[in-house]
Amino acid sequence: MALTPMMQQYVNIKEQYKDAILLFRLGDFYEMFFEDAVIASRELELTLTGKDCGLEERAPMCGVPFHAVEPYIAKLIDKGYKVAIGEQVEDPKMAKGIVKREITRVVTPGTVTENTMLQDDKNNYIAAIYKLSNEYGLAVADISTGEFSATQFNEENNFIRLIDELARIKPKEIVVNDLLMKDEKAVSMLKARFNAFISLEQDFSREHSREAIKDIQTNVDMETRPLAQIACGALLSYLEDTQKVSLNHINKIEFYNSSEYMVLDISTRRNLEISETMRERAKRGTLLWVLDKTNTSMGARLLRQWVERPLINQLTLQNRIDAVDEFKANSILRAELIEHLKKIYDIERLLSKMVYGNANARDMLALKCSLYQIPDLQNLLKTVDSDLLQSLQLGLDELNDVADLIEKAIAEDVPITIKEGGIIKEGYNEEVDKLRYAKTNAKEFLARLENEEREKTGIKTLKVGFNKVFGYYIEVTKSNYSLVPDNYVRKQTLANCERYITQELKEMEDSILGAEEKLVDLEYNLFVEVREYVANQIERIQKTASIIANLDVLSSLAEVAQINNYVKPEYNKEGIIEIREGRHPVVERTLNDIEFVPNDTVLDLADDNINIITGPNMAGKSTYMRQVALIVLMAQIGSFVPAEYANIGIVDRIFTRVGASDDLAMGQSTFMVEMSEVAGILNNATQNSLVILDEIGRGTSTFDGLSIAWAVVEHISEKIKSRTLFATHYHELTELEGKLEGVKNYCISVKEKGEDIIFLRKIVRGGADGSYGIHVAKLAGVPYAVVNRAKAILKNLDETNVSKRNTVKVTKNTPPVGQFDMFNYKLGALAEELDKLNLDGVTPLDALNILYKLKDKIN
Ligand code: ATP
Repeated sequence: MALTPMMQQYVNIKEQYKDAILLFRLGDFYEMFFEDAVIASRELELTLTGKDCGLEERAPMCGVPFHAVEPYIAKLIDKGYKVAIGEQVEDPKMAKGIVKREITRVVTPGTVTENTMLQDDKNNYIAAIYKLSNEYGLAVADISTGEFSATQFNEENNFIRLIDELARIKPKEIVVNDLLMKDEKAVSMLKARFNAFISLEQDFSREHSREAIKDIQTNVDMETRPLAQIACGALLSYLEDTQKVSLNHINKIEFYNSSEYMVLDISTRRNLEISETMRERAKRGTLLWVLDKTNTSMGARLLRQWVERPLINQLTLQNRIDAVDEFKANSILRAELIEHLKKIYDIERLLSKMVYGNANARDMLALKCSLYQIPDLQNLLKTVDSDLLQSLQLGLDELNDVADLIEKAIAEDVPITIKEGGIIKEGYNEEVDKLRYAKTNAKEFLARLENEEREKTGIKTLKVGFNKVFGYYIEVTKSNYSLVPDNYVRKQTLANCERYITQELKEMEDSILGAEEKLVDLEYNLFVEVREYVANQIERIQKTASIIANLDVLSSLAEVAQINNYVKPEYNKEGIIEIREGRHPVVERTLNDIEFVPNDTVLDLADDNINIITGPNMAGKSTYMRQVALIVLMAQIGSFVPAEYANIGIVDRIFTRVGASDDLAMGQSTFMVEMSEVAGILNNATQNSLVILDEIGRGTSTFDGLSIAWAVVEHISEKIKSRTLFATHYHELTELEGKLEGVKNYCISVKEKGEDIIFLRKIVRGGADGSYGIHVAKLAGVPYAVVNRAKAILKNLDETNVSKRNTVKVTKNTPPVGQFDMFNYKLGALAEELDKLNLDGVTPLDALNILYKLKDKIN
């Protein structure tokens, strides 16, 4: 048995798109067959039916109506599938035999362009990675905006740098070459870390890339960046293969080095909750949430990019901060600017729709409305002082030609579809006006005809009507059949009436329907012409859209600075971080009815290089350290900061090691994660970095942990010299002040009140005088009996520790003071065990075993 011709066509197409679910257009439906149908019926909750396919068994089948396909595609994409759209590419009425069908687009997570599948304030990135031995090229695009950039990693720690970069980009889909696809560990990590769809592409080659990017502007000679170049070529191929349209809006490749920006590794991004919270991965509760008062989608996306990618170039930062300062100082200017920004739609994405040929007349009106704001923006900014604002003002293109064309051509009240007319404005095109006139005239004619026929025939209920199948007709009810004249030709018989046509009506029908069809076609063609004109102005519109995004972000930062009472930071190159009365930007916004207690910070490359911070649990150590990191980060975005004064010595990287978390995705235990992060810091931090260490060494025994913490501080102080905040419960570490250069002790103060403690949240010089862990346990509601028992045990341990300590001699080889305390503490515990031993009746062998066990414990 053979497949039916149509199913054969299906199978042939499916063969080329094995990794996608094929939506096969059949009349008013998109149908899925075989395995695809089984998957789709499950994922989309569709009824699975069958179709006779020529074989013995019917083919499993399910389908969705063509006009409502978008949400189904969105759902499949969301669930991690690719969707290939197999469209009818010829008019079924004209087709000889099977209607021709072709794949017109493959929708993938990284290439969606539909508004419903995109988030306004987020880019939708697709990345291509080219692996060559241990080096990588990376290309990244957002086809909904036309952004395209590339970089390469061919120095040290290339894979880690790549992952850090991907953590910033958060691609929805990653296209990889064969070599990377074969690296199972890397692929499963990419999948787990970024929840990204991985696609294999063959076109990773130098020759191909040269050809692919030859018409695209680049900011550097890509021949000198071969890894990035190859990734760019492959990404463009993949996009063309899936989109099947020309991607004219991708007209620039921006090459960058990730070291031109502040580098933030994946755990630092997570720990500092820059754009998503650690637990819910939500925006609320993040730095971005506090800073985002943008008024356009373009601005919201750009702000996210700024926050995710702080700068290290002092001049650029100074320019940004001066612009924010000017907007902050001039609140009238800012308010007026914001009023205009509010009326601006997402020009970048509208433009991409124009280029794709997806934009409808409503999109055109949205663009016009947005462009009409530009002259006012330009006027408003005429008197600005700061260099950046001046250059933005000068760069704004009023785009009068585009706005005027849309104003003249497109009607004000238009339908969503562009295929049913009603979109071209009166007066724009003579032919359109004529056809419309013919149409309205025809309506009058029909009304007149109805009246005349009623009079002629004496049938008072006679009606002239229209339906799609039979066209125009004269309708006569049953009781009047005897009055129907001879020139009426019967067309259709219904239960209570008959429908007729006359010669005169037939002629009119031809001219009306002809006019309508012609009008619809003409309007569509005129619309497409306008759309193409707009699409051809792509570079001018993109540039202006980018300027608007910048104005939006700068004014948003000014607005936030004003509302939240931030200060303009100063920048220095000497590595001094001086913050007076600093606050945590997020915590201060989330404390209800409680005043946030501000704190000072001094860090530098000399005497104040490392702060050891002690203090009870819950005192505010983590908040304080993150606040310092966030203030530095904000300053390096170009934002004002929550403080009374801030002078920031620009940092090349921020590292954080905060809290305990498993990394199940990577198969690592809590302690392993901790140590990997510590390793990452010690191997990569430089003198220009800022390091935040919150509790290292806690996931192992006290001895182990303290030794690691101790050695880490020594290493940073002696070798790396990064400005470091180190919070710890090992009070022994406070012994390092005075012994190691640049180490100073700080603690977060608390006040004892009877049995309880009051958190003062103030950071002061010196070490903490106790841990207060049991106080906090009590505060947290640990049962009273447990708290009491803990107190008794602690008392006992303290006494044992003190009495044994007095018996140990300090020798030349005794470990450092803090460690010495621990050593005594352990001896105390051993003494206690010896004390409990009953030696009567112990054999020499037992005694030896006991000795071995004790020795083991010591080790
Ligand atoms: P642990 O050692 O248990 O991790 P911690 O010392 O790091 O505790 P944080 O988590 O920083 O304590 O702070 C605990 C809570 O105290 C915060 O959630 C916040 O609500 C509050 N807090 C911290 N710092 C301040 C401050 N400066 N002003 C007001 N409230 C603060």
